[in-house]
Amino acid sequence: MEILLVEDDDSIAEPLMAGLRRDGFDVARVRTASQALAHETPEFVLLDLGLPDADGSDVCRELRSRGETPIIVITARADEIDRVVLLELGADDYLVKPFGFRELRARIRAVLRRTQPRSEVPPTTKIGDLEIDRRTRRVTKNDEELQLTPKEFDLLAYLASDPGAVFARQEILESVWDTHWYGPTKTLDVHIAALRKKLGDPAWIATVRGVGFRLHEPE
Ligand code: CA
Repeated sequence: MEILLVEDDDSIAEPLMAGLRRDGFDVARVRTASQALAHETPEFVLLDLGLPDADGSDVCRELRSRGETPIIVITARADEIDRVVLLELGADDYLVKPFGFRELRARIRAVLRRTQPRSEVPPTTKIGDLEIDRRTRRVTKNDEELQLTPKEFDLLAYLASDPGAVFARQEILESVWDTHWYGPTKTLDVHIAALRKKLGDPAWIATVRGVGFRLHEPE
């Protein structure tokens, strides 16, 4: 997949390009709004709002009017971040500078999961000696059934839909609890702690600081 990075600042663009390429993306980079709009329809756009020749929000609106390309807005100006306005412009998500690459990666994956046709999640997922059966809602470890509450099961099944991938806290809350959850996130931590206990090894669910969680077999 090719990502179009629209960013005039080299000190931000260069490490992003290097990281995205390491992750297997092709990256095209442009510096201005006019270059961005002249680029042939990109598959995914990372869009800086502070561009030298126009406001990035105009670019966002124009790209959205052309099609369904996923767009993540990046901005240095936290004060202009109005989630509602960005969603009206057609952005799928946003990041405020400075942000870590892991957070960007988690957001890209989240947007791709939301915007791409859902690949069929298999009825069972096996990770090491852990098996999650979505049809029967049973979880076994070493062939012994774990007694999970319904929400614990939903959370585990969600993390297991892409083993090893980082899921952002907000994404988990929106998917497992409610479509839009802006409240305190302590509920999530309580459920993570309970799951870790029931899985018998806290290392099953790794905390990715400042981003979220991922499920993987302990080493
Ligand atoms: Ca800029």
